[in-house]
This record gives sequence, structure tokens and C-alpha cells, in this order.
Amino acid sequence: MPKFSSLPETRLEVAERAKHCCEYCKSMDTFSPNYFTVDHILPEPLGGTDSLGNLAYACYLCNRLKSNKLSIYDSIPNTWVALFNPRTQDWNEHFAWSEDLTSIVALGAVGRVTVEVLQLNRPKLVAYRKAVIPFGVHPPA
Ligand SMILES: [Zn+2]
Repeated sequence: MPKFSSLPETRLEVAERAKHCCEYCKSMDTFSPNYFTVDHILPEPLGGTDSLGNLAYACYLCNRLKSNKLSIYDSIPNTWVALFNPRTQDWNEHFAWSEDLTSIVALGAVGRVTVEVLQLNRPKLVAYRKAVIPFGVHPPA
């Protein structure tokens, strides 16, 4: 279950570090009707702490879909693959935008399992991206 609030100052620091974008799907909180959350990358039930190094800014659905998952069995390399970690990995090394900028393209196993599990191209996200492109706010810098 996503955590809706951390300490307000921690929440603001996490949001500002992420430039108010979900660190997984890159949607912006400014344009979202849903509340954004603070994700524990290593979930609290597995020993994750509230330190900034374990926190990521995430939209409600990315956080909900990630839940307590850390890795996923991927049939292509036939092994367990860790989900994308926004604190230790660079988004641009694991994902790219499609030519029309509406979909996230996986660049390898980490990207592939993360796109699949977090449904990073869910129809409402694709529609959101199409809607905000004309305003010059997508893709985020
Ligand atoms: Zn998201």
C-alpha cells in the first residue's frame, strides 16, 4: 500500500529532487488529478528506511503497482531482474521515449520488467502524454 505522507519536509525534498515528476513514469504532479506518493524503494516490510536514499517520488499507480516488489522473473534472460531503482540507476540508461514521445521504450531487462510491472504505458498515461506535449512540458527535462 502506498504511503500517502511522510514528514512534510521530507516529502517536499523528495518531490523537488524529482522535479515533481514520478520517477518511474515521468508524469508530473502538477497535471495529475491523483495524489503523488513517496515510494520506499526497499519496502519498509523488507527493512527499507525513511532515508532520502531509499525514497522516490511516485504517482499513486506506479507506487501501487510496484508495491513490495524488488525483482521480477524475466523469461527472456531466464533469471530474476531487479526493478529500476531511481536512486542508483539512470532512467535514460534503461528507458527511452518512443518516436511520438507517448510511450516508454525499455532499453534492456531492467527497463522491460519495470515497464511491464508498473505498466508504464497504461492507456491513461499515453493519453496524458499526448495531452501535455503541446504545452512543452513533456517529456520532462
Ligand atoms: Zn508514475
